[in-house]
Amino acid sequence: CAVVGIYGHKEASRLAYFALHALQHRGQEAAGISSADGEKLYTIKKRGLVMRVFDEAKLKTLSGSSAIGHTRYSTAGNDSILDAQPVFARYDLGEMAIVHNGNLTNADEIRNRLIEKGAIFQTFMDTENLIHLIAKSEQKKLLARIIDAVQRIEGAFSLVFLSRTKMFAMRDRHGFRPLSLGLLPNGGYIVASETCAFDLVGAEFIRDVEPGELLIFEEGKEPKSIKIFEPTPKHCIFEYVYFSRPDSKVFGQSVYQTRKAMGRELAHIKPVEADLVIPVPDGGVPAAIGYSQESGIPYEMGIMRNHYIGRTFIEPTQEMRDLKVKMKLSPMTDIIKGKRVIVIDDSIVRGTTSRRIVRMLKEAGASEVHMRVSSPPTTDPCYYGVDTPNKDKLIAANMSVDAICEFIGADSLAYLDEASLLRSVNTNEDNYCTACFTGKYIV
Ligand code: 5GP
Ligand code: SF4
Repeated sequence: CAVVGIYGHKEASRLAYFALHALQHRGQEAAGISSADGEKLYTIKKRGLVMRVFDEAKLKTLSGSSAIGHTRYSTAGNDSILDAQPVFARYDLGEMAIVHNGNLTNADEIRNRLIEKGAIFQTFMDTENLIHLIAKSEQKKLLARIIDAVQRIEGAFSLVFLSRTKMFAMRDRHGFRPLSLGLLPNGGYIVASETCAFDLVGAEFIRDVEPGELLIFEEGKEPKSIKIFEPTPKHCIFEYVYFSRPDSKVFGQSVYQTRKAMGRELAHIKPVEADLVIPVPDGGVPAAIGYSQESGIPYEMGIMRNHYIGRTFIEPTQEMRDLKVKMKLSPMTDIIKGKRVIVIDDSIVRGTTSRRIVRMLKEAGASEVHMRVSSPPTTDPCYYGVDTPNKDKLIAANMSVDAICEFIGADSLAYLDEASLLRSVNTNEDNYCTACFTGKYIV
C-alpha cells in the first residue's frame, strides 16, 4: 500500500491526489482521501485506480488545508470496498481518519480482546483495530491516545492520522516500510511512502520519518517529533528489489542505483556467454542495465510491455494473473531471433511469469534463454505488509534451482545470493529485513 499526508496547504486534497498517482504502483485495488477543514472531515474512497476514483467534482468536496490518502492492495483483510482506506471514525473527541501501510502481527489478538469487550468491527482490516484502541483509550487527549494505541500494536506500520485540526505520522520501531517527510513549495508539509510523490508536487525532501518516531503537525508550527520507541531498523529489502519506484529514494538510497548494483553483482557472480541482455519490463530494467554494463553484453529491449495492464502479481486470483501476463508482455521477434539471450527479472514468486516468458522467447526464435534473477530465491512469505503467497505456492520453497530451471524451460537459471544482495544495498545485514529470502523473521 501507499500512504500520503498533506498539511497546511489550501489545495491539500488535490496534492494528495497527485501524490497518490505517483504511488499507484504500491496498490491498485482501491484508493481514498480524507480531508479536514478544521471543523469536519470529508472522505471519498472506492475500489479501482486513483484516476477512476476521483474527478474534479469529487476533489472539490474534499475541502480543507490538510488531507491524507491511500492506495490499497490487500495484505490483511478482504478485497472489498469496506476495506478501502482511509479508515474513518466519529468518536468522543470528534472525528479522525487513518491510513496504514504495513501489517500488524498481533492484530487477531487485539481484535479478539476487543470483541470480547463488546466492540463491533465493520471490516477485516487490521487498521480498524487502531481506531478502536484510540477511541477506547483512557487518555484525555488525542496525542496521548495515539501514543497509547501504537504501544499496543506490533509489526509493520507506516501510519498517518488526521483529526479536524492536526496530522500525525508514525513509523514502527523497525521502520519496515518507508515514510519520508518533505516541504511543500508554498509552505506546508508532505509525508509519503516514497519520494517520487514529492517530485510530482514539487516538494523538497527533508528527511525520512525515523523508525519509532511520531511526528505531530499543528497549525503555524514546525512539525514536532516524539520518540515513541527505541529504533531498531529492519528496513524491507524487498522495497529495493521490487516494490518501490526506481525514481524514489527509500531508506536514504536511490532505488534505481541499488537495483543497478544488484544487476552488476549478478553479472559478477553468475556470468554466462550470450549475445544480448534483456529485461522483463518494467521490474527487471535497472538490474538488466547493470548486468549489461558489468558483463559488456549489449542491452536490448527484447520484450514489449503493454502499459495499459496493471501489475500482475497484485491481482488476487490465479486465473486473472495468468491471463494478465499474456496480455501484458510480447516478444520483439526481430531483436531476439537466433540470439542467445540473458533475461533479467527482479524475482520469481510462483514461477508462472518466468515460465511464460521463457516459452515466449523460444517461440520467437531465441536460440538460448538464460534466466537471471536479481534477488535470492523467494522462499518465505512476508508478514510485514507485502502480499507474498503462502509457502506452498512459492516455487523456491518447494523446488531446487535446477528443478525450477527445468520447470520454466530455461537453458540456465541463477539467482543473486544474500551476501551480494546486501552488498548492492550497501549495508550490513543488521539494518534490513530479508525474511522472504532467508526465513529470518524479526517479529
Ligand atoms: P510469478 O509468476 O513468479 O509469481 O511472479 C513473478 C513476477 O511477479 C516477477 O516478474 C515480479 O517482478 C512480479 N511481482 C509483482 N509483484 C510482486 C510481489 O509483490 N512480489 C514479488 N516477489 N514479485 C512480484
Ligand atoms: Fe520485506 Fe521480505 Fe521482510 Fe516482508 S519479509 S518486510 S517483503 S524483506
